[in-house]
Amino acid sequence: MSRIIFILVLLVVGYLLLKSWQRRNKLNNQRRDEPPSGQINKHLHIVSCQQCGLHIPENEAVQHGGKFFCSLDHAQQAQVTHQSTPKGKP
Ligand SMILES: [Zn+2]
Repeated sequence: MSRIIFILVLLVVGYLLLKSWQRRNKLNNQRRDEPPSGQINKHLHIVSCQQCGLHIPENEAVQHGGKFFCSLDHAQQAQVTHQSTPKGKP
């Protein structure tokens, strides 16, 4: 009888270990899919807005004509300023 109980306990412990191992594995896979924020920041390229000089990550910046801007507004403002640059006429 005690042998059966021993086997049952072994089965339960084995099952619990398997469960916790699976959960840990799942978490590790999730972490691999989305790298931690620190790793992202390491490879992040910071650019400054050509209009106001604000520093922003390149992936959030608006790129226009090879220049970076903090927003679409500033990209348009810069374009307007560039276009209205007087060439003899104001
Ligand atoms: Zn700006």
